Amino acid sequence: MEKTDVSKSQNAENVLDHFNLFRQPQYLEMFERKKCEFENPAPANEVEKIREWTKSWDYREKNFAREAISINPSKACQPLGAIFAAVGFEGTLPFVHGSQGCVAYFRSHFSRHFKEPSSCVSSSMTEDAAVFGGLNNMIDGLANSFSLYKPKMIAVSTTCMAEVIGDDLNAFIKNARDKGSIPQDFDVPFAHTPSFVGSHVTGYDNMMKGILSYFWDGKAGTIPPVERKPVERINIIGGFDPYTVGNMRELKRILNLMGVNYLVVSDNSDVWDTPTDGTFRMYDGGTKLSDITEALHSKATISIQGFCTEKTLPYIAEKGQQTIAFHCPIGVRATDELLMEISKLSGKPIPEELEKERGRLVDAIADSTAHIHGKRFALFGDPDMALGLTGFLLELGAEPVHVLCTNGGKEWEEKAKALLASSPFGKNGNVYAGKDLWHMRSLLFTEPVDFLIGNTYAKYLERDTGTPLIRIGFPLFDRHHHHRYPIWGYQGGLNVLVWILDKIFDEMDKNTIVPAKSDYSYDIIR
Ligand code: SF4
Repeated sequence: MEKTDVSKSQNAENVLDHFNLFRQPQYLEMFERKKCEFENPAPANEVEKIREWTKSWDYREKNFAREAISINPSKACQPLGAIFAAVGFEGTLPFVHGSQGCVAYFRSHFSRHFKEPSSCVSSSMTEDAAVFGGLNNMIDGLANSFSLYKPKMIAVSTTCMAEVIGDDLNAFIKNARDKGSIPQDFDVPFAHTPSFVGSHVTGYDNMMKGILSYFWDGKAGTIPPVERKPVERINIIGGFDPYTVGNMRELKRILNLMGVNYLVVSDNSDVWDTPTDGTFRMYDGGTKLSDITEALHSKATISIQGFCTEKTLPYIAEKGQQTIAFHCPIGVRATDELLMEISKLSGKPIPEELEKERGRLVDAIADSTAHIHGKRFALFGDPDMALGLTGFLLELGAEPVHVLCTNGGKEWEEKAKALLASSPFGKNGNVYAGKDLWHMRSLLFTEPVDFLIGNTYAKYLERDTGTPLIRIGFPLFDRHHHHRYPIWGYQGGLNVLVWILDKIFDEMDKNTIVPAKSDYSYDIIR
């Protein structure tokens, strides 16, 4: 009987998928019966009462008093960032030493964001390796990876299991070489990336430092360290950047326009944007391995996202280079500062073409300012992204009211506070380091804002609180291809401005669309 009813709800001419299928009467009735007969549900008025309570200041205070439990944190673990850094090098296979479930997760996480393949291998440690150590996993894993996937380099990081049992990567890789898993001179840089320390941006930093120090300091004791011979060139390190495809291409275009001699250290703009032309490319583009050594000789290194290079930059500075860190430059002022610094370092003037692009962004901001001025925003993201977005909102005359960063620490908090204090539009702003999206939920209920900026996970906040979500950040799983557009540089600022404006206008239209009620403001021209 049930089966017949269900089959009737489908029609070959108009097949219903889950969106509409489960709204058919027979499904609604079935769910209701299941609930009453088996689920022992709380009474509806009780559910409603609790739901209302979670919106209150009383609940907010309890929520913010949390010490141990974390709910909907906006951060991932270290090896994810290590893989991000590793795939930016020519022919490089990321190899995560530890349990393989992590690698399935890392790969799917990137693939869902970039809508691209994401190659990475595991040494597949299991219970016995947890007792006796993962040396054999490293020996066999490197041998298999080398012969199957023919990489030019294998970059090793660790899962927390390998960290907890204390496997020594340096010794294990040396052992694997001695056993003939890989040729003696094959490059295997490595980094310990414990997931119980920091976040994915820490893992990016550790892997980047691991790769540079491997090449610069004598390839784990196998050759003498490289002697630095300074040359007129600037290294660029992008950091863990969800818009890497668009951003890196934009940054290179800017540097080429300026005629700067530069070297991008870890460039993943090609590997996460390979063409569909009948050939699967496991590796594509990336920083040439010979250029990693070359990078030592550059006169300076610019990190576009300073919180992704907290250990890498001091290491580079120790080698005698000048180092400068930015925080995800979005908008006019932040791009000005980046370009002026590049110009100062390279001695190359900023060309007229870029000045014109700047003027166009200023023009766009001026054209739209009436719609953005004074709008209240909540935002969250990785430390650099959160700072970059906050700075841009202030520049637009918007008010960043709640600025939250789960993986932000004391230093981030101070920088964010100083940024808010630098503008009258920041006077109602508050900064929340180390807080999660359940904290953000309370903030949105008790001190509502007009818009929320964040990643896909914030769609639950939009559902609960009704705050319209502008999707900027990592990961973006439920919208396609945003990563192809830059957010850095003047062109990038224009993109971010348009994304914000589109949402403002969509909401305006939604609020004025009812005929004979609100459509007196349903304007053609906005
Ligand atoms: S937290 Fe540990 S177990 Fe979980 S994905 Fe990260 S490394 Fe793997």
